[in-house]
Amino acid sequence: MTQIHKNLIAGEWLTGEGEIENVNPSDLSDIIGLFAQADADQLEATLDQARVAQQAWATYGIERKQAVLNAIGTELMARADELGTLLSREEGKPFAEGRGEVYRAGQFFTYYAAECLRQLGENAESVRPGVEVDVRREPVGVVAVISPWNFPTATASWKIAPALCYGNAVVWKPANITPASAVALTEIISRQDIPKGLFSLVMGSGRSIGQRLVENPKVNAISFTGSVPVGKSIAAAAIGNLTKVQMEMGSKNALAVMDDADLDLAVTLALGGAFGGSGQKCTASSRLVVHAAIHDAFVDKLVAGARAMKVGHALEDGVQMGPVVSQQQLDENLTYVDLGKSEGAELVCGGARLELNKQGYYMSPGVFLNTSNDMRINREEMFAPLASVIKADGYEHALSIVNDTQFGLTSGIVTTSLARASHFRRHAQSGCVMVNLPTAGTDYHVPFGGRGDSSYGPREQGKAAAEFYTTVKTAYIAAGDAV
Ligand code: NDP
Repeated sequence: MTQIHKNLIAGEWLTGEGEIENVNPSDLSDIIGLFAQADADQLEATLDQARVAQQAWATYGIERKQAVLNAIGTELMARADELGTLLSREEGKPFAEGRGEVYRAGQFFTYYAAECLRQLGENAESVRPGVEVDVRREPVGVVAVISPWNFPTATASWKIAPALCYGNAVVWKPANITPASAVALTEIISRQDIPKGLFSLVMGSGRSIGQRLVENPKVNAISFTGSVPVGKSIAAAAIGNLTKVQMEMGSKNALAVMDDADLDLAVTLALGGAFGGSGQKCTASSRLVVHAAIHDAFVDKLVAGARAMKVGHALEDGVQMGPVVSQQQLDENLTYVDLGKSEGAELVCGGARLELNKQGYYMSPGVFLNTSNDMRINREEMFAPLASVIKADGYEHALSIVNDTQFGLTSGIVTTSLARASHFRRHAQSGCVMVNLPTAGTDYHVPFGGRGDSSYGPREQGKAAAEFYTTVKTAYIAAGDAV
């Protein structure tokens, strides 16, 4: 009998209103398990208990909190092979990426473990003589974390770790398509020295339990990563309760390749940026803006590289690109392929469904040529293993194309010119800028986030996370002169 994986409700592992089946996108005959769907009463119960637990957690002291976060991070890193295998099995990214994600998630916890000990406040002289001012940060309270399937462990961890570090309770609604990684992380957190109910897992669909969670006035802050339409609906729900909200959403990142670029490096960055994680990354570079002088040479190597990529089962040795995550995602991707062609783009390779020895959601990496930046394939986030090449007349033209988007998460340039690199760093309209590096791949100790429709609210990661997960208190103390 297939095991039913439960939710963590007010500190207890419970079944809910039915279950969903979790299927391996690399092999549809592989059922990973059944995952309980939390119901409305369970959500209320866990939110109530979270409030109580948060008050207890706030009194724990910074060393005890540090030990908890450190233990979670250390265990994630130690079990990166095992949990990375599980992640790749349910999400479809190659094992090296799955393992790397779990290890990175561990690093988020150990980083924020250290931050528990570094929560320094500020003090100042008042403008009034004899009065001192003390400024410090306090927890916001109960934080709802809503995470996507493309980085099921890392994205959740870069929200959960700072939330706990800064003294909050967490109620986590993971993506329903990758629940196994969520249960595994919850199981680790649940074994720590934390107050009962400080951390909850409420699996279920976004439209039911997700919607109830974001509308609930018992939630003090919502951190969300996912699509723009869902982000907008969450923001609308949050404002109804004046709930604090932080959102990372879509993107349409560009990599500019200059005529002075190291061509092999440029092709490596373009292939990784467009097809890593099957193109399902918010930091993917699906727009390749290429200087006309090297366009043809670049395209030859890019297409050869895309054709040579090994697509297959995420856990098979040597596989460079796994399946896409679901039938729905595959259908949408193929619709974008048709759309690109109908817009006049030339599909020179890939972009087709692949039938392999295992039945899964496989698709070949596709490259569009002769595209313009006003085509929908260059304006909408496709989340697909599809890259579009846009020819630019020169550096200034390339920069204007890079910036011509409603999004602004990352952007990159490949160049050997220091002048162009530094001009680009200053003028690219995105939250993260990469020089001779892939647009995907960021650190954990510095801020992460974008502009335009890519992000809303304070930055995530590094010390910047304190802005969202805390509220500032300014205390005035009349010191008096008497001793
Ligand atoms: P969604 O935005 O629908 O889902 C993201 C998370 O939000 C999931 O946990 C989802 O739950 C939850 N959710 C959905 N609806 C609601 C709601 N009304 N209230 C509260 N929570 C909700 O993304 P999809 O998974 O459907 O992906 C669709 C597209 O979004 C992708 O093709 C891609 O373009 C973009 N996307 C971008 C990401 C990024 O990193 N920038 C990440 C993921 C997606 P559930 O899983 O149950 O639906």
